[in-house]
Amino acid sequence: MQTRFSEAQLADPGVREADGILRACVHCGFCLATCPTYLLLGDELDGPRGRIYLIKEMLESGKPATAATALHIDRCLSCLSCMTTCPSGVHYQHLVDDARVRIESTLARPWSERLLRGLIAHVLPYRARFRVALIAGFLARPFQRFLPRRLAAMVGLARRVAPPSAVDRPQVFAAQGQRRMRVGLLTGCVQPSLRPEINDATVRLLTRLGAEVVVVGAGCCGALVHHMGREAEALRQAKDVIAAFDREPGLDAIVANASGCGTMLKDYGFVFRTDPVWATRAARIAGLAKDVSEVVATLGLGGRAGGVPSRRVAYHSACSLQNGQGIAEAPKRLLAEAGFEVVEPVEPHICCGSAGAYNILQPQLADGLRQRKVANLAALQPDIIAAGNIGCLVQIGAGMRLPVVHTVELLDWATGGPPPPELART
Ligand code: SF4
Ligand code: SF4
Repeated sequence: MQTRFSEAQLADPGVREADGILRACVHCGFCLATCPTYLLLGDELDGPRGRIYLIKEMLESGKPATAATALHIDRCLSCLSCMTTCPSGVHYQHLVDDARVRIESTLARPWSERLLRGLIAHVLPYRARFRVALIAGFLARPFQRFLPRRLAAMVGLARRVAPPSAVDRPQVFAAQGQRRMRVGLLTGCVQPSLRPEINDATVRLLTRLGAEVVVVGAGCCGALVHHMGREAEALRQAKDVIAAFDREPGLDAIVANASGCGTMLKDYGFVFRTDPVWATRAARIAGLAKDVSEVVATLGLGGRAGGVPSRRVAYHSACSLQNGQGIAEAPKRLLAEAGFEVVEPVEPHICCGSAGAYNILQPQLADGLRQRKVANLAALQPDIIAAGNIGCLVQIGAGMRLPVVHTVELLDWATGGPPPPELART
């Protein structure tokens, strides 16, 4: 694709990066077939190619973003399915991230939109605030149908308020037997309040397989606000995480068990590439970042699996894991090795509609995608649904009566841990 940026525009590192990405696009349209919003809406501007044109126009004009551009970019899930499909290697992730920052800094959104976005950004990434909001949401559930749709979607997240887990406090968990690895665990922001059992299972599993697990006092990785274009907040949160892990010597890996967070950690090097103070530290943390399935695969289950009644597990591949990190097979392989019958739905590349705060900001589209995903999963007649990202668990769980659990909970169960609590709840 030809671009027409001036020399002055290209002096901006963001524009220079975008220019390289735009030039790689050959307008072939292969990406349309795997784009969830194009599938639902059938509008070229709600597909990757159309969005790339809109971003190009916005950047070349140098003018503030228009409401029309924001409409189509806001509808993008950042699921990165288009990136996996693209034969030309167009780095859509960095292009749309930059576009979101420009939209957020130049467009005067309606006050109600600003209020909702501000609420999400100031509550969800902070554990204590989110817990209070969850309790308020839980109490408001009987009135959910009287609320405006997007507020109702927020309240819909509050299915239960779990007590905090002792695992989430800064501490070190010793490896069982000989120590084979020393890993830092990112315990996350919303996950400990929604499903504390995931971090519990992660620590049990990793220590059982021979890893020493270090929990540092790190908060949100910045992904949630990063995907809303709120750059300053995202950088501040990311710096806190980098500094927290930097203080821990001798880490072999930094483990994320929410794949949305893992994708963000792995991108820190790019995010801070022009920052003279943080670039090196950020790149080091990005280099250490691993999804929990990668670390478990490295350690190996070592013949510990067995003893769990046979279960048919439908594996949902989170977009941030399969597209953001290129990890599609390892979790399925591990589940099968652990003794589960693993099945996969049709359209594994189509997002479930969770996508950070997308299910709150775009509830109609998110509902459509959830229904599609739930129908595809239910058709497999599984006993359990498994996925590697808290957003997907909540999104799919809201549409199914079956237990929807994290992959590590099943691996922990199969290697000697307790059954996932969700099995008893559903
Ligand atoms: S598949 Fe890649 S090159 Fe083709 S239109 Fe989409 S982004 Fe551009
Ligand atoms: S990131 Fe997902 S929703 Fe956005 S354009 Fe690409 S495929 Fe479509």
